[in-house]
Amino acid sequence: METKKLVIIGGVAGGASAAARARRLSEEAEIVLLERGPYVSFANCGLPYHIGGEIADRNRLLVTTPENLRARFRISVRTRNEVIAIDPAAKEVEIRNLESGEVYREGYDALILSPGADPIRPPIPGINSPNVLTLRNMEDMDRIIKALEGKKHATVIGGGYIGLEMAEALRRRKIATALIELAPQVMGPADPEMVSVLHQELTLNGVDLRLGTSVTGFSDSANGLTLTLSSGETLETGIAVLAIGVKPETSLAQAAGLTLGPRGGIQVNDRMQTSEPSIYAVGDAVEVTDFVTRQPALIPLAGPANRQGRIAADNIFGRGTRYQGTQGTAICKVFHLAIGMTGLSEKAAKRAGIAFEKVYVHPANHASYYPGAAPLSIKMLFDPQSGKVLGAQAVGSDGVDKRIDVFAVAIRAGLTVFDLENLELSYAPPFGSAKDPVNYAGFVAANALRGDVKLCQVEEVVKPAANQKLLDVSTPSEVSAGTIPGAKNIPVDELRNRLGELSKEKEYLVFCRAGLRGYLACRILSQNGFNCRNLTGGYITYQRTTGMATAEMPKNHRPESDSDDQDSQSLGKETPLKLVRTVNACGLQCPGPILQLKQAIDEIKVGEAVSVTATDPGFVADAPAWCNTTGHELASLEPAEKGGYRATVVKKSLAPVGAAQQCGKRAMTNVVFCDDFDKAVAAFIIANGAAAAGYDVTLFFTFWGLNILRKSGPVTAKKNLIEKMFGFMMPKGADRLKLSKMNMAGMGTAMIKGIMKHKNVMTLPELIAQARLSGVRLVVCTMSMDLMGIKSGELIDGIEEGGVAMYIDNLSRSSAGLFIS
Ligand code: FAD
Repeated sequence: METKKLVIIGGVAGGASAAARARRLSEEAEIVLLERGPYVSFANCGLPYHIGGEIADRNRLLVTTPENLRARFRISVRTRNEVIAIDPAAKEVEIRNLESGEVYREGYDALILSPGADPIRPPIPGINSPNVLTLRNMEDMDRIIKALEGKKHATVIGGGYIGLEMAEALRRRKIATALIELAPQVMGPADPEMVSVLHQELTLNGVDLRLGTSVTGFSDSANGLTLTLSSGETLETGIAVLAIGVKPETSLAQAAGLTLGPRGGIQVNDRMQTSEPSIYAVGDAVEVTDFVTRQPALIPLAGPANRQGRIAADNIFGRGTRYQGTQGTAICKVFHLAIGMTGLSEKAAKRAGIAFEKVYVHPANHASYYPGAAPLSIKMLFDPQSGKVLGAQAVGSDGVDKRIDVFAVAIRAGLTVFDLENLELSYAPPFGSAKDPVNYAGFVAANALRGDVKLCQVEEVVKPAANQKLLDVSTPSEVSAGTIPGAKNIPVDELRNRLGELSKEKEYLVFCRAGLRGYLACRILSQNGFNCRNLTGGYITYQRTTGMATAEMPKNHRPESDSDDQDSQSLGKETPLKLVRTVNACGLQCPGPILQLKQAIDEIKVGEAVSVTATDPGFVADAPAWCNTTGHELASLEPAEKGGYRATVVKKSLAPVGAAQQCGKRAMTNVVFCDDFDKAVAAFIIANGAAAAGYDVTLFFTFWGLNILRKSGPVTAKKNLIEKMFGFMMPKGADRLKLSKMNMAGMGTAMIKGIMKHKNVMTLPELIAQARLSGVRLVVCTMSMDLMGIKSGELIDGIEEGGVAMYIDNLSRSSAGLFIS
């Protein structure tokens, strides 16, 4: 092979891989590695873990050193040398030595660009404050650690994987942490129902999570920074870590005339060759082909960068290897949970216009009888015709990595759900199950494709059609921890004897907790001539999709590691608990922990407490819901050892009635559906009256009712065209509402306002203010917000967001409820 001179720009993931591979392929080649930073081949992915203290020794992040690369691979490594221009015609690069300032040129036969991607810093006022930091390299990490000295509060902006890892790192340092995310969910590439347990995990671990919020300004303050938020609030913080995404570093490539792709990355072919044949590019800076959609994509991940570096070197040294595309296989740790994904999410499939069917399964990570079993939730997308696997997401405390990797291989190999049924995967009780969760996902999908059962999805059960009926085949104890509103309950074991209660004219949307008994019930029903479909993933998926899985924390909830003065506020010290029993429900899946809680409560006396530890993340939402339904008091809910969750419950009464009634406090929950001025006034007059009479009042605003709570002034909220049009056409707040009758182009409304003034009736804004003063809870329906394109930042302050589950929960504790429409 002819001697070649290879110059590489960027000495970390892609660049260092390319250099090492090049040397393995050619002993003769001259290899020059240029890196503007002081280190090569450091572990960017490990940076948050040093900040959090898990990787105690900073030097462990330096995977190799320039000396090692020189000694082992005879590579000329030049750190603190920045390439400032490329001259493709002369095949030379211009370099500035950042130590000496000297500028020199270096010729090449082949050039590889691996300059990475830069953290995005949008032009927000004050963003250049030294207290607004980003994390990309070792120096950034050192700066963040230094800036945190003496700080009690920090804010992470952006809930992607770097933001999530940073939030955890900060909490590990016992720093009060806010996480601000513009979207209504963290981990943007994943589907919302797969991340709702992450929201709960963050909150449970003391992260002040603010979704649907953005930072509109930074200003330096005595303690660090004051952030202005899109909600109009301000937030005092020590430092802000900006983690809102990265953009490919393309300036050198652009200046050299290399072609960029439609997504803004450097365009390359499957040999990683740019539009200039002697120049290759790899890593975060390049645009790749999405393996599933075959569309151009920017997917900045370490694995692809390393592989691309290797492929570029292969092609330069005569091996015809080809890059096959990136499928976005990724995993992220969020306290005790992990979320992993590969291939298409539902969002991505919809964006790409790809037809799909989806299934959810919630099995245990390994044999549930072996200690330490924990639930795993998997969502799989597949082609509705061929059954080809298109994507998978998994969340859980253990075993996510193994399953996502199997799905990743399945996608790469073009396997179908029928192949997944037949995969032979390693099994012994501590590691898996004889039917592995991946096989199980295959069974569920293949059953549907073969026509053994028809599937239905949460989108359908939240709004059943007139001829559809919801059927919950769980046990009554499970139903006490929650069911879908309107569902009839017939436990699957009683179904054959109670078929007479069902009608063949209806379609039954059947569900259980996780989907298996729903499937069994559907088999019974369909073989008896009933029309039915099984809700895939059952009630657990319903909970996570509708937001019910995000628990309301008990009032005394304290994150485990805050400062001493916070600990001293714990309820345990104010009201000594009579803890008489501890129950270990780890390894049990829903409804196991709730059933154990019920059994323990049944066996203790009123006033005594029981503490139940479970590994099922669903327990965090189920325990408060169960307490609300049964009237027992949730004294605390906290993270427990080994990724578990501990709920401590005080037995309140033997009678299983709503909590509000049990403590003698009356409650009222009213739905406000419309935005007519007169009806809004009536709603708030009733709410204020009821609050004055000692009721706990909740107003649940849905559809047009949301407009009553909109801010009247200009609000910046990111909206698409339809949302903007909708927002423009609807009234903006209490001052802009019209009478439902006799409006007469606004004259009627003006007249009634005049009469109200004359008769000393409070204005609508005053009524709203009074209601809030009186403790009336104003809850907006998140589903309606989403439908109508109304964003959190558009609403007046102090509004809670909730779903139908929250409404039903409130209603179950209320002695009165009105629908104002
Ligand atoms: P980089 O590794 O960023 O290397 C580019 C190098 O080029 C830089 O050191 C830069 O200084 C140098 N450079 C740029 N321009 C010039 C120039 N003109 N002259 C000389 N040198 C130059 N990915 C995962 O898959 N899993 C993870 O868990 C994960 N965690 C991450 C955590 C953090 C905090 C960060 C920042 C990234 C993480 N990533 C993770 C992403 C992963 O690190 C990147 O995808 C990968 O490093 C990209 O490799 P690269 O070679 O393209 O760029």
